[in-house]
Amino acid sequence: MINFNVPPFTGKELEYMKEAIENQKICGDGPFTKKCHEWIERQTGTTKCLLTTSCTHATELAALLADIKEGDEVILPSYTFVSTADAFVLRGAKAVFVDIRPDTMNMDEKLIEAAITERTKAIVPVHYAGVGCEMDKIMEIAEKHNLMVIEDAAQGIMASYKGKPLGTFGEFGCFSFHETKNFSMGEGGALLIRDEKYIETAEIYREKGTDRSKYYRGQIDKYRWQNYGSSYLPSDMNAAYLYAQLELAEEITKARMDRWNEYKEQLEPLAKEGRIELPYIPEYCEHNAHMFYIKTKDMEERSELIAFLKEKGILAVFHYVPLHSAPAGIKFGRFHGEDKYTTKESERLLRLPMYYKLTADEVEYITEQVKVFYR
Ligand SMILES: *Cc1c(COP(=O)(O)O)cnc(C)c1O
Repeated sequence: MINFNVPPFTGKELEYMKEAIENQKICGDGPFTKKCHEWIERQTGTTKCLLTTSCTHATELAALLADIKEGDEVILPSYTFVSTADAFVLRGAKAVFVDIRPDTMNMDEKLIEAAITERTKAIVPVHYAGVGCEMDKIMEIAEKHNLMVIEDAAQGIMASYKGKPLGTFGEFGCFSFHETKNFSMGEGGALLIRDEKYIETAEIYREKGTDRSKYYRGQIDKYRWQNYGSSYLPSDMNAAYLYAQLELAEEITKARMDRWNEYKEQLEPLAKEGRIELPYIPEYCEHNAHMFYIKTKDMEERSELIAFLKEKGILAVFHYVPLHSAPAGIKFGRFHGEDKYTTKESERLLRLPMYYKLTADEVEYITEQVKVFYR
């Protein structure tokens, strides 16, 4: 059986986790957390990185820092994971969904401006499959209307738009290190902060509303309750697991990219015949091979293909059910404009197995079976 996902594991994780245990520092903000912060800051060039317990929590932190309140609106795609909306809805905001572009599955930047109202506070682009949204245009709109940009870059580490890393455009960027992502710590994430002015408050919100981070650095002699907050810092054991992978980030990304290119090359003939569609990567977007998907004719064909592949020992899965049609989406959101592509394209998209240790032979076998299905 070829699984859809296998959590990344390099071999060094156990050694580092053992070290974290022997350090007798298994709570948050220990040596491995610090190493991860430094690595991400160096790799992305962001002003400040803070590891969190998930990307969902990183987004919650961003919503707190953006001072999202009851009655505010945020603009986001409906074709995304629930967390993108949850973090804002939790603060009482309304999720205003706009349609996606059928080529990249990212929010259509041309539809954002029409969805802006007096209540709009932020734009939340999601870089689907690690392919950048049209950030030039999105940043221009945000500036013009004085809105914040919070990037859901859950799938976007090691990817860039016009040479600039995803997650570093907006005030805040959010990474995920869930076991399904390119690098993992089981459950975890990171908040990227662009402007220095937010760092101190972010540290306080993340540490139960206290200035403990300052205390740990020896900047003050006791820490106190300063503001509301929560507990968003992961255990150093989890950070140790993640650090083993960050050290091998280039190698992991290259392995995934090789498989991605093999998929593309081997399925190109089917795409040329018009039987399926393949992912589109704008030339100025460097992606990270987070995902390989194809698009079938319609939902019915997709169900048949999933069943066929399963018989052949291959697990392929579809992705998001659009948020605006889900019970909470109806309650907490509204779709602005016409749903021309969100539902239609989401029903056609099928993700093929993709993970660090997937082999070239397995990709060969999978693409062969897809071809057999279409013959
Ligand atoms: C995985 C994912 C999330 C959630 O990440 P967690 O770390 O599980 O909270 C949010 N948004 C997108 C687009 C994702 O792919």
